[in-house]
Amino acid sequence: MKHVEVTDYKNGIYNVDSGYEGGGVASIYIARDSGRAAIIDTAHNAAIEPMRAAMRELGISGGDVDYIFITHVHLDHVGGAGIFANEFPNSRVVVHKRGARHLINPEKLVKGATDVYGEETMERLYGTVLPVPEDRIDIPEDGDEFRVGGRTIICMDTPGHARHHMAYHDADTNSVFTGDSFGMSYLELRRPDNIGVMLTTSPVQFDPEAMRSSMKRIEALGPEFLYPTHFGQMPCDDDVKSSLYRQIDRFVELAENTDGDLPKIREGFKKLFAKERDIQNCPCFTDESCRLMGIPMELNAQGLAIWYAKDRNRK
Ligand SMILES: [Zn+2]
Repeated sequence: MKHVEVTDYKNGIYNVDSGYEGGGVASIYIARDSGRAAIIDTAHNAAIEPMRAAMRELGISGGDVDYIFITHVHLDHVGGAGIFANEFPNSRVVVHKRGARHLINPEKLVKGATDVYGEETMERLYGTVLPVPEDRIDIPEDGDEFRVGGRTIICMDTPGHARHHMAYHDADTNSVFTGDSFGMSYLELRRPDNIGVMLTTSPVQFDPEAMRSSMKRIEALGPEFLYPTHFGQMPCDDDVKSSLYRQIDRFVELAENTDGDLPKIREGFKKLFAKERDIQNCPCFTDESCRLMGIPMELNAQGLAIWYAKDRNRK
């Protein structure tokens, strides 16, 4: 599939490739109507350049942006939030109540991500993460509605990937900006006839039951399309749904069978994703020539081990 910087879905929704990890990995969506605009997620600081270019191309000025909707406070979604808030001075930054304090003071996020990625990768991916001023932040409840021109965007508290996760339902197109709550599909997992989807269980708050219920809630809307942050529009069809529910079951089984042992989970993932490759007919799941699959696999393994350790403590 050809890689383009800005994709126009012809429904007032646009996908701007943030350039994160070389592109095709982290989307920043723009939703616009009647001269007003909203941005969904902000990737990393360097995303401000493709965003400026996209705004010029679409004829949107910085002052037209009313909201920056944050799905959750993992750095690949909010690394650029401080810069974006400066760039779009009229915008309110909308974030889950459990995430707000981490935008105001990103120190903990940076530390958490450094633990996961290591210092070198952290610097390469994110540089200096800037705070968002407290008086720019809106903390919605589940069901709260925001107007963007004539569009209505409804907040959905959707734990499972993280407890600080909001999905945003665009009522006019009946589609959902799902963040990481409904799987991911890098550009390299896309084929002309099918889309490879992978569950995302990044540290440290994966909760399989909560993830299932959040997905059921999103699914119950009968959405026309999903807009996951990783990457680009995807259908909410049976293939996508069954692949993700199957992966939740298989992941949990693997954690239980390995007693949450991280090296064994890593080993187990090789088999698990070889099966996914065959079922989903998507060679990238296991082909080592695929540029990027190593990172989400490792994050998934770590997140799964952490969930299992917590779950066992609860029992
Ligand atoms: Zn995430």
